[in-house]
Amino acid sequence: MNYDSASLIEKGAYRCACGKIHKASIKASYVAPGAAAAAGAYAKRFGGTKAFVLADENTFAAAGRQVTASLSGAGVPYQVFLYPGERIEPDEKTVGSAVLHFDETCDILISVGSGVLNDVGKILAGMRGLPYLCVATAPSMDGFASSTSSVIRDRLKVSVNSRCPDAVLGDTDILKAAPKIMLQAGLGDMLAKCVSVAEWQIGRIVTGEYYCPEIAAMIRAALRKCINGAEGLLQGDDEAVSGVMDGLIVAGIAADWAGVSRPVSGTEHYFSHIWDMRAAALGTPSSLHGVQCAIGTVKTLKGYEKLRGMLDAGVAPEPFNKAAWLKTLSDYMGEAGGQMLKNAETCALYDPQAQAERQENIRKHLFEILGVIDTLPSYGEITSLLRGIGAPTSPEEIGIPESETAVCFKATKDIRDKYILSSLAFDLGVLDRLAEKI
Ligand SMILES: [Zn+2]
Ligand SMILES: [Zn+2]
Repeated sequence: MNYDSASLIEKGAYRCACGKIHKASIKASYVAPGAAAAAGAYAKRFGGTKAFVLADENTFAAAGRQVTASLSGAGVPYQVFLYPGERIEPDEKTVGSAVLHFDETCDILISVGSGVLNDVGKILAGMRGLPYLCVATAPSMDGFASSTSSVIRDRLKVSVNSRCPDAVLGDTDILKAAPKIMLQAGLGDMLAKCVSVAEWQIGRIVTGEYYCPEIAAMIRAALRKCINGAEGLLQGDDEAVSGVMDGLIVAGIAADWAGVSRPVSGTEHYFSHIWDMRAAALGTPSSLHGVQCAIGTVKTLKGYEKLRGMLDAGVAPEPFNKAAWLKTLSDYMGEAGGQMLKNAETCALYDPQAQAERQENIRKHLFEILGVIDTLPSYGEITSLLRGIGAPTSPEEIGIPESETAVCFKATKDIRDKYILSSLAFDLGVLDRLAEKI
């Protein structure tokens, strides 16, 4: 089976051995040199007769001319809405501005950009019920093929439902010229998948949750391409750049197929979420999503290696004081932690009976769990791979004190009911000790 995004989309609705019918929301992807010049043809393919083009100054400089020339060539008139300034935030002002400037005579939306512009494009297209194309300018995160947008609402980062792009065009000539940090971030968001896919498997063993080996295989195939190409990524190697770009689209398809973000986001993403939540509420430092995920991946892999050592040595479980922990959590997260504290009241993690069942599963299937942990790359390997492309590998390099790593790691288990390394360590009664070693 071919695991590139175009082949996966072409499969259409597909009845899988896991019991689900898998179908991607994205209808087309095209990752190749010169792909932006196909924007006009794709606009027509999706019924567009007049395009509303969304861009900012940087993204327009990167790909705007190719897109508008292609629209003109295809006989599709367009209206460009350009965000002024260097940097836009995915907040109420940015979304509202696109809504208020929308030209009612347009019947297709095209965003020229990646993270924020794609998030805004998806929201506007969803509100207007319009077909939507994303012409990527950087392979920086895995939200290309998803039906949600990550935005800042009331100073909190939240995920809202929106419209999955009908097509994503990734022009490798443009993508390889993206700022270095965007390329590092895209690779980071892909490296994160080595953790998330393994944690999904561990979750299945311990909690009996849904799991699909086919989806896991497609993530692993995309990840392998990214790891193999990592060295050439900043040198503009076409295969390396298209490997990351296509991998990011495949990740979106995988989450869509699974119906949950499980295959593409685990402990490492929760490190990143916590840093984002604290940044929005408390003004602490933060970096690009993928850069943070890469650091989270290094920390999580180190955690698994240490946990493995502790299990081999056999350690006595430590006591847990929930009230004391919730106080620490609320001090650390400030107002950003409200939802986490609420979650702690009802989540299965702290339910004694649910925990006893999980602990029984862990005892019964310990060798299987260790087998999954053994499939993970070493944190040394991933650290040197990231260093090789000049990407940060520690919180300190993005301005976050290393002394906060332990509490941040312990808080990852409180974000949602997703079974991850910190939940496993909690059930094993070694969370505090493990947190100190990360
Ligand atoms: Zn399946
Ligand atoms: Zn991600």
